[in-house]
Amino acid sequence: MPEAIELDVLIFGSGAAGLWLLDDLRREGYRTVLLEAHALGGGQTVASQGILHGGLKYTLRGLLTRSAKTIADMPRVWRECLAGQATPDLSDTVVRAEQCFLWHTASLSSRAGMVGARAGLAAAPTKLPRDDWPEALCERAEQVYLLEEQVISPRSFGATLADAHRDVILKVDVDAGVEFEIDDRGEVRFVHVQREEDACRFSPHWVVFAAGQGNESLRVRVGLDSAVMQRRPLHMVLARGALPALSGHCIDAAHTRVTITSDVDVAGRAVWQVGGQIAEVGVDMDPAALVAHTKDELRAVMTIDAIDDLQWATYRIDRAERVTRGGRRPDDAAVLCDGNVFTVWPTKLVLAPRASALVRQALGQPPAGTPALDTTRWCDWPRPDVAQPPWDSDLPWSNAL
Ligand SMILES: Cc1cc2nc3c(=O)[nH]c(=O)nc-3n(C[C@H](O)[C@H](O)[C@H](O)COP(=O)(O)OP(=O)(O)OC[C@H]3O[C@@H](n4cnc5c(N)ncnc54)[C@H](O)[C@@H]3O)c2cc1C
Repeated sequence: MPEAIELDVLIFGSGAAGLWLLDDLRREGYRTVLLEAHALGGGQTVASQGILHGGLKYTLRGLLTRSAKTIADMPRVWRECLAGQATPDLSDTVVRAEQCFLWHTASLSSRAGMVGARAGLAAAPTKLPRDDWPEALCERAEQVYLLEEQVISPRSFGATLADAHRDVILKVDVDAGVEFEIDDRGEVRFVHVQREEDACRFSPHWVVFAAGQGNESLRVRVGLDSAVMQRRPLHMVLARGALPALSGHCIDAAHTRVTITSDVDVAGRAVWQVGGQIAEVGVDMDPAALVAHTKDELRAVMTIDAIDDLQWATYRIDRAERVTRGGRRPDDAAVLCDGNVFTVWPTKLVLAPRASALVRQALGQPPAGTPALDTTRWCDWPRPDVAQPPWDSDLPWSNAL
């Protein structure tokens, strides 16, 4: 049996929650290692739209709670990190848009939604003069605003943090290559990680499950209740072709009827990621029906030239969150503590700093005087690749959808 490597914290999962926490803990002096089962920054993080929300969705639901105020401060936290003025240093992360457009159509429910949004947002959106409206919105929008929500490339966010910590991030086969040893008090005493003929035996003081959906099975592996997690499915739409760069939300009543973010794929083609209400109602539709519905919705809220010449794809993904009554979206990041195991769900990408702060608060003071971690022990172990965004992964695209 290999000699145990003493750690302060062993993290599972390199999505937004795991990577942000890893960066914070290492800067504070915790001896930390992160285990990833698939790709770096993967799961929901790379599939997300990357909008650094300041509370719009909570405002639309009329939730002006303390938590809604917490999220309102998050765009500032990120803005400083993205500018390299605060830690983690995210100055290498690509910012796809500095602001989002927010618009409503002439329908009553759309107008009403905007009244609610403007009343509740901490930073009121700025009304744009018609000359400054994006061309695609000129015909259908009744009013367009600018909202102080940056949009990042989730892939480059994952790459930025992963690059800074490659020496302590290991790719593991969680099913066949990881074993937990639980002591009499039900705490995780050792985590045995096998790689071919080689193995590491970690003795972590704390274990953090930050594995998104993977938290469910990890909790079962260490004898904890898995019914504390909920999944909320989405069916997202991708369009590529002659599309302008655009990020924004069309508001309708208490919903974002359409949320669009844009990027460029590896071949240099413009790509739109379309979510909001479309991705919620799309859960019960097959790809062809969802694309037809999306085209109708886009035609109703904006003008896109040659919409029928675009190529389309869809992808399904579940949001993994702490369970709530009625399965609603939680209004904050959630951290559960069971013995020496924390389970983390940030609820939103933008709440990753908050999730990290909650864990660190529970950990207390960083350890003093402990020897530094010897990372040479696993220097030839494989490192996970950085996850690819959905439009650069293996999805079937079609004009005919
Ligand atoms: C379509 C979509 C759009 C979204 N848009 C936004 C947005 O615009 N703004 C926003 O703020 N939020 C958004 N969100 C929410 C946001 O993406 C998530 O809240 C956040 O990314 C969750 O991060 P996470 O680290 O908890 O989990 P994940 O990002 O899911 O990462 C989990 C990681 O753990 C790994 N893993 C899984 N199982 C194991 C295991 N057993 N052992 C080790 N590793 C494991 C996975 O491979 C993955 O890398 C969106 C979500 C979705 C689905």
